[in-house]
Amino acid sequence: MGSLQNQKSDNGLAGTIKPLDPEEFRRQGHMVIDFLADYYKNVERYPVRSQVEPGYLKKRLPDSAPYDPEPIEEILRDVQKDIVPGITHWQSPNYFAYFPSSGSIAGFLGEVLSTGFNIVGFNWMSSPAATELESIVMDWLGKMLKLPSEFLFSGGGGGVLQGTTCEAILCTVVAARDQMLKKIGRENVNKLVVYGSDQTHSALQKAAQIAGINPSNFRAVATTKANAFGLTADAFRAQIESDVESGLVPLFLCATIGTTSSTAVDPLAPLCEVANEYGIWVHVDAAYAGSACICPEYRHFLDGVENAHSFSFNAHKWFLTTLDCCCLWVKDPSALVKALSTYPEYLRNKASETKQVVDYKDWQITLSRRFRSLKLWLVLRSYGVANLRKFLRSHIKMAKNFEGLIGMDKRFEVVVPRNFATVCFRISPIELAGNHQIVSREEAANNFNAKLLETINESGKIYMTHAVIGGVYVMRFAVGASLTENRHVILAWKVVQEHANALLTSS
Ligand SMILES: *Cc1c(COP(=O)(O)O)cnc(C)c1O
Repeated sequence: MGSLQNQKSDNGLAGTIKPLDPEEFRRQGHMVIDFLADYYKNVERYPVRSQVEPGYLKKRLPDSAPYDPEPIEEILRDVQKDIVPGITHWQSPNYFAYFPSSGSIAGFLGEVLSTGFNIVGFNWMSSPAATELESIVMDWLGKMLKLPSEFLFSGGGGGVLQGTTCEAILCTVVAARDQMLKKIGRENVNKLVVYGSDQTHSALQKAAQIAGINPSNFRAVATTKANAFGLTADAFRAQIESDVESGLVPLFLCATIGTTSSTAVDPLAPLCEVANEYGIWVHVDAAYAGSACICPEYRHFLDGVENAHSFSFNAHKWFLTTLDCCCLWVKDPSALVKALSTYPEYLRNKASETKQVVDYKDWQITLSRRFRSLKLWLVLRSYGVANLRKFLRSHIKMAKNFEGLIGMDKRFEVVVPRNFATVCFRISPIELAGNHQIVSREEAANNFNAKLLETINESGKIYMTHAVIGGVYVMRFAVGASLTENRHVILAWKVVQEHANALLTSS
């Protein structure tokens, strides 16, 4: 007390900041919404990729936190002045990098509601609505994806909202690991083998690392252009056979629908057939492309999922839901629970004892968890299946248009077939240095395309990122930002051509 009174600028504020005063909340809340509405309205004015240098912010902000309170007006002014320049504008209609982070009013407001209630929903009792809504929404979504009923609560399986795919894969790897070790003995953990392809997301490697899989038992099976960079059942089987021969124990396959580099698709049906022969847990990672599979014409990419053990996709990528929101379904929730459950005294309660409720803390890594289902519920209700399909199709159509534009310029080529709304393209080596040997011609093309992409991104007009697929450097044009219209795609192509013209004449 004494020391508080001695601090000259305290003014007794500690007792009066009223952090949840309803009227002040209303006032400041409206200001923040207005701020964001203006941001979306003006987002095209900013360079898409942030142009700041590392360390830019330290130069602008004070060395320590303010002792006295500062008004929201001033803070928002600084957000505009100091934070916005350091933001890469994922919501810009000219954003075509990585995969989208498609925002929406419904997703945003669901997030606001969730954050507003600010509950900590580790078990059913801690907020019954959070658990029950999550289970209902996961069954809704599972039906939209036409997942086999074994993945739904109504069919003995179930879905859970994880933060990200990385977590979803880790949870399924540990479930598979413990199930297998129960059979073969914990002392054999070093024999377990995890499989993916050389196109599988690094999330699998991270999961295997954390789960204690012997690093030398991580298999990234090679893919080829001839198979459109999908993992073939033959290559998978050959690897398994060689591992079994060496006395190892095949454990887990991560098959991908829509790889991160090129949106390649692993053929689920034949892969699951091989996996089932060897008792391998199959996880299907459809982080990006899963969204499209709510459209009947794209559902075939999931054919064969009925023989997988788990399936996940990121609603926070291309499904109008704010980060983070990874939807994971498993056929056998008890496998997850056995690997992840703890039940300390302070969490004991009647509902859990009766085993009539889901305690989602046992389906994930962390104990505390957010009320994520609210935002998905708002997205599904606000737009409905019909409009969600329209939204996804509109992006695919725009990507097709972009592909068409590339086709009209002989200097460019589409490098891998487009499956969804992402186009991988480059300036063809033929266009470049005619007198090079084939090998160095490819190398020259890689260098040229990398340089081209950098100058495009430096312009701030659009933002794309790259991938190297089968040794070929490609620019990735991923349509999916919620504000993108066809005119942005046409303009983006002009930007690419202009920069290519400039670079071709100067080199
Ligand atoms: C984006 C992506 C991931 C990683 O997703 P996070 O939610 O960031 O962990 C994994 N797999 C694929 C195929 C992806 O495209």
